[in-house]
Amino acid sequence: MSHHRSVWAVSVALLLTIAFVPVLPVLVAGAPAAPPNGHTAHNVILMIADGAGFNHVEASRMYQFGNAGAQVYTQFPHQYAVSTYPYDTAGYDAGYWSRLDFGYPKLNPTDSAAAGTALATGVKTRIGMIGMAPDWVSELENTVERAELNGKATGVVTSVYLADATPAAFVAHSTSRKNYDSIAQQMLLSSALDLLMGGGHPWFDRDGVALATPNYDLVGGASTWQALEAGSAGADADGDGVADPWTLVQTLAQFRALTTGDTPARVCGIPQVARTLQHDRPGDANAIPFAVPFIQSTPTLQEMALGALNVLDEDPDGFFLMIEGGAVDWASHDNHAGRMIEEMIDFDLTVAAVVAWVEAHSNWHETLLVVTADHETGYLWGPGSDPDWLPLEDRGAAQVPGLTWNHWDHTNSLVPLFARGDAGDALGALADEYDPRRGFYLDNAELGALLLQCVEAPPAPVCTLSVPLVISQAAPMPPSGD
Ligand SMILES: [Zn+2]
Repeated sequence: MSHHRSVWAVSVALLLTIAFVPVLPVLVAGAPAAPPNGHTAHNVILMIADGAGFNHVEASRMYQFGNAGAQVYTQFPHQYAVSTYPYDTAGYDAGYWSRLDFGYPKLNPTDSAAAGTALATGVKTRIGMIGMAPDWVSELENTVERAELNGKATGVVTSVYLADATPAAFVAHSTSRKNYDSIAQQMLLSSALDLLMGGGHPWFDRDGVALATPNYDLVGGASTWQALEAGSAGADADGDGVADPWTLVQTLAQFRALTTGDTPARVCGIPQVARTLQHDRPGDANAIPFAVPFIQSTPTLQEMALGALNVLDEDPDGFFLMIEGGAVDWASHDNHAGRMIEEMIDFDLTVAAVVAWVEAHSNWHETLLVVTADHETGYLWGPGSDPDWLPLEDRGAAQVPGLTWNHWDHTNSLVPLFARGDAGDALGALADEYDPRRGFYLDNAELGALLLQCVEAPPAPVCTLSVPLVISQAAPMPPSGD
């Protein structure tokens, strides 16, 4: 990322130098201005573990690795915390730690609609709102729309139903997250998304068993579903004014086939399950992880993500992809540690697969990967916490760590952020607030604004402007390369 900074520095030097050479003012007028913080990335991948705070990451780490390792993203070069509070609240006061004010994080938490909107649009809004400003009427531009304007391919993947608040915030606009019909119709019938994957299949129950009577509530109604099945649903996705109908993918074999080789141009993947890939399945919800057999007919989040990347990577302008592990939040609302850990592991394995994909098919100069959460759920800490906050107890790999749930809802706790890729250099300047326990942090709206900027077309190559006669001494060119 020093590349962009140095380009900007050179362009400033150029302008200053040129200004002292009266015969060349026309070059100044013609110079494309590089944005002062002109961070862009060819590909931007945002991964959100819904409801995952620092201790959800810790619990998953302990279960997977004991003290012998950690998730791949814990090695990323950019690590900060993120504040998540919604519009028109008192914000986040890091002083609660020193006051031993254990109840503080339960006050004024956000939800996935307001937090998703902040991450997707860079603007804080009210609880429950999807892509709408606090004034109730203004639609906010989201990252998918901005990426589409810049010619990029776009996709959204979730392990819960596709019209749920987090995926919805990246595509739709609605004053209520519960307007499922409208939200699903915006995503399926009017968006320019190239890739959409999530649950909500009308013909299957939460265990993946076929239903006698369909439920179209989460896919935009019966007519939307019938158009999807008929191959006639979908607006213009590539800007040529002609409709680009979705190719509907439903079976496990179809999802797996997407991960290699040629793919349809535009894919909607709805696995054969009612709401979530695995979290909603029947069986003892208090069981240890993986004790209750998984549904065998649904893909993993990892398989969905790899299919999504394979669909999106055809676009020469790059892509934006949001991948959500959506049921970490659901398990945490229920204070079900086993299912929370299952969901975190599904998410963690997906991050690892995305990292491997970037290293095989792209690189960290052109691709930015951000791993974060929209808010914390369950107020998860170690046993004996309150009034002080104690760490989880590591009981070794394949053992649920010692932990306590201190709430059944979201909290106003900071959440973790891990990023890799040159464009992530821009995070440091944003993370200018300090928390005594979590270190430097930025706000979710700041992160959202940065992501919007990252999907812009790259700044014009200012270096090609160089006029050797003018800059030969005043502004030597920087070393080439990234
Ligand atoms: Zn929640």
